[in-house]
Amino acid sequence: MSKAPKLFSVLGLPVHLIDDYSGWLRSRLKQGIGTHVVTLNAEMAMQAERNAALAKVIRQAELAIPDGAGVVLYLRLFRQRIKRCPGIELAESLLSEGKARVFLYGGAPGVAEAAAAVWQQQVPGLNIVGTQHGYTSPAEVEELQQKIKQLQPQLILVGLGVPRQELWIAQHRYLSPQATWIGVGGSFDIWAGVKSRAPAWLADNHLEWLYRLYQEPWRWRRMLALPKFAWKALIYRLTQRSQIGQQLP
Ligand code: UDP
Repeated sequence: MSKAPKLFSVLGLPVHLIDDYSGWLRSRLKQGIGTHVVTLNAEMAMQAERNAALAKVIRQAELAIPDGAGVVLYLRLFRQRIKRCPGIELAESLLSEGKARVFLYGGAPGVAEAAAAVWQQQVPGLNIVGTQHGYTSPAEVEELQQKIKQLQPQLILVGLGVPRQELWIAQHRYLSPQATWIGVGGSFDIWAGVKSRAPAWLADNHLEWLYRLYQEPWRWRRMLALPKFAWKALIYRLTQRSQIGQQLP
């Protein structure tokens, strides 16, 4: 059993530090302890400053992982060296185990199915019990809810983008209360081969955002959040407003 998570604060939002996130989640999955995993990055933190509902959901999540380079660099400013844990890699590690009943929700029509097919080929015996694209009509939403209630998936990956996925999970996790729910952003696009991840050398140099900008230039406006985050981080550092290193009960 992994050690209890350490809790850090990034602009007042939680980040949990665990040596082995995947092992921690696997143990909760086995015990049927429902978990909402939030993948914290600079863009999400800046959205939470303006969106109180999102901030509340992030604070209530059982696990907030350091998904983005900005979060890692922020904590470095406070002399905390932590390892980045991209949400997509955590989801991949749980899927590779092949032990849980999985549901994929989100992405353009056909993308979640394509991602499921890729995974099913990669992990024989993986039990993907259902998929649903993320551009649903009210009737499809109703049907989706019925499906989740009936199938009781254990691992539910929701790729609707921030903050839609976080809010959706918080509102609907009661449908499968023992599941691990993760907001995975555009991960289905990557698994389905619609988009690609930044090369490792860019990610290692905290420059994954540059690759996203190259791949999706229309994101430039959203990416203005990054310098704003860096500025806020410096202000927080100068005023020492972050409490770090608290131990969770
Ligand atoms: N998406 C969706 N429904 C919507 C809006 C978006 O399913 O109403 C999907 C979109 O197809 C994409 C993902 O949500 O696969 C968002 O990916 P992005 O990389 O933008 O996520 P973020 O950066 O917000 O984590």
